Amino acid sequence: MELVIKNLCKTYSNGVKALDNLSLEISNGMFGLLGPNGAGKSSLMRTLATLQEADSGTMHLDDINILENPIELRKVLGYLPQEFGVYPKITAKELLDHLAILKGITNNKERIELVNFLLQKVNLYEKRNKSVKGFSGGMKQRIGIAQALIGNPKLIIVDEPTAGLDPGERNRFHNLLADVAEDVIIILSTHIVEDVRELCQNMAIMNQGRLICKGRPQHVIDELNDRVWQKLIERNELEDYSNQHMIISNKMVGGKPLIHVLSDIKPGVGFTRVPPTLEDVFFSKINITSTVI
Ligand code: ADP
Repeated sequence: MELVIKNLCKTYSNGVKALDNLSLEISNGMFGLLGPNGAGKSSLMRTLATLQEADSGTMHLDDINILENPIELRKVLGYLPQEFGVYPKITAKELLDHLAILKGITNNKERIELVNFLLQKVNLYEKRNKSVKGFSGGMKQRIGIAQALIGNPKLIIVDEPTAGLDPGERNRFHNLLADVAEDVIIILSTHIVEDVRELCQNMAIMNQGRLICKGRPQHVIDELNDRVWQKLIERNELEDYSNQHMIISNKMVGGKPLIHVLSDIKPGVGFTRVPPTLEDVFFSKINITSTVI
């Protein structure tokens, strides 16, 4: 299975260029798409899910031309949007049953078996007769994944899935995704760097509608080896340090900023070299693109 995106462009009517000549190839497994808010991730996800059109470019999933033949793509697509709205007063089982009918599974026996199978897969079988409205955020996300799995999709798109989940729910959700990722493409679009590091074999970072980094998480991290330095400074020193150094991130630790600086040599007194993280990669790429533009 291969998804090939070439020279994709999209400018909204207000003039915002959300996709700027974007090209990307993705094969089986979990693929993480990272980017700050406004980077264009959802625009790309919605275009891939055939919910909106691109101005130019091409997208193919194996031999399906997605832009010319959206109906073929929808047959093999599972989509979990950012907000998975659920109907009020409907049980988990009724919801999946209803969505399975909408996806064209009209044979009753086949549908009942599928719904039971999916409920078990996402660990909600015990809750099958409970109203979905009362579900926790994590349970709703799991129902969202269950509906995205109806019809044996080959391409699964998951947009910002773990926002609002507690750590336990997030873990369960990750395990579930990793479990289904084996022979399909799952694209996980998120601004949470940890999710990508933990889960994805391959990843890309987007900013301002463009692709600014692509590779295996560990490979892109290794590119920063020996170049990340940290120092705990006082709050009123932050401006001076920003003027003198390339600060890639700053976090508050015990009320003081802990800065990470990118430099080939020791940037100054009190700095210690630290192993790079995916967060360092993310912020260094984002800062570089913002300053170039
Ligand atoms: P992300 O998912 O990475 O946060 P989006 O694709 O939602 O990014 O947005 C990319 C840019 O396009 C942003 O500047 C956003 O404000 C703009 N945008 C998104 N959707 C629309 C729309 N329907 N009309 C106009 N501008 C939009």
